[in-house]
Amino acid sequence: MEKKLRRESICVQGGWQPKKGEPRVVPIYQSTTFKYDNSEQMARLFDLEDTGYFYTRLQNPTNDAVADKIAKLEGGVGAMLTSSGQAANFYAIFNICQAGDHFITANTIYGGTFNLFGVTLKKLGIECTFVDPDWDDERIEAEFRPNTKCFFGETISNPGGNVFDIERFANMAHKHGVPLIIDNTFATPINCRPFEWGADIVTHSTTKYMDGHATAVGGAVVDSGNFDWEAHADKFPGLCQPDESYHGLTYTKAFGKMAYMVKATAQLMRDLGSIQSPQNSFLLNLGLETLHLRMPQHCRNAQIVAEFLQNDERVAWVNFCGLKDNKYYELGQKYLPNGSCGVIAFGLKGTREDAIRFMDNLKMICIVTHVADARTCVLHPASHTHRQLSDEQLREAGVAPDLIRLSVGIENVEDILDDIRQALDNMA
Ligand SMILES: *Cc1c(COP(=O)(O)O)cnc(C)c1O
Repeated sequence: MEKKLRRESICVQGGWQPKKGEPRVVPIYQSTTFKYDNSEQMARLFDLEDTGYFYTRLQNPTNDAVADKIAKLEGGVGAMLTSSGQAANFYAIFNICQAGDHFITANTIYGGTFNLFGVTLKKLGIECTFVDPDWDDERIEAEFRPNTKCFFGETISNPGGNVFDIERFANMAHKHGVPLIIDNTFATPINCRPFEWGADIVTHSTTKYMDGHATAVGGAVVDSGNFDWEAHADKFPGLCQPDESYHGLTYTKAFGKMAYMVKATAQLMRDLGSIQSPQNSFLLNLGLETLHLRMPQHCRNAQIVAEFLQNDERVAWVNFCGLKDNKYYELGQKYLPNGSCGVIAFGLKGTREDAIRFMDNLKMICIVTHVADARTCVLHPASHTHRQLSDEQLREAGVAPDLIRLSVGIENVEDILDDIRQALDNMA
């Protein structure tokens, strides 16, 4: 049996075990198709009666190696790579929700996910209720309906930096017979493994820390294999009843713990096709090989920068769970004992224009849409990523109009501080 490696070793070696004479580095299988010797072999693949590669939209060896690494990092039974984090969250939900269904999500989530859930899924007939995770249990539980199919939250919210009480919401979701889906993008499995706290499915925008260099947009869906779909078969007919598009095969019966992942691949990826390109998953893998080295450096630098900001009189507020007086300090200690991530949310005293002026003054730190890569960068969500949202929606999404999202990179922290200091000094 394959030895179970520790997280750091999985980052470097997981997912790809070459046999004699094979490439040491996971190769890019730049091929859409795969060859078979006879028609019967191919037919069995199409009926899901045999495993093997036939078309890269469904599976590709490069993608599978990298997905397997991510599954191992999270401690899940399987994973699939998607073309983006947006696709990952869409697949994670759509794999168990259809028109007429409902789900509940924390309102403190990434702006793109907020739109996907609140606008686009609604057009597909899937309704969602946004709840404030700070509400008490009774108020949140009142939002569960007979057609509720899952609960969704982000380990560390983008851009607010709120920490989600995974264990609390896993228990609540399970009490109502539905899985908890966690977007673990900001924490990464280096700093938090949501399955250990009862989450059932994890999603990632691999575009962020996992890639780490801002080279490739991508996403991943990981299944713990722990949720008992059959115990709630009436809620999940897509998994527990025959799929007509596969001659009446039933995923839970045919694939057990892999039912959710197989359905996502065999049905959703087949029909919707948001696969990650093998070239991009190769780049993602290079990033993953150093994830365990980069995350601690992001956290160390961010802690120093957060403390600097907190002690500067020109700064109105700082949200970073590593600060002792932070609202999320306790939850951070519980779920992220080794550090959270490099992202800090803060506001300056003064107007919205002051925030813009501060950002325009920065020299080494660039204004970019992106977040969570090696280079320190900054963004004003109200003017950029969240500009489609009304002020009320901004508040609902936990985004203050003056919120500046600073994504602390892995440069020398003194250079980061110097740049912030000069930008503040030059505002007057
Ligand atoms: C960026 C992001 C997404 C969307 O991912 P893309 O790769 O940009 O499509 C989803 N969730 C979180 C938390 C993100 O930061």
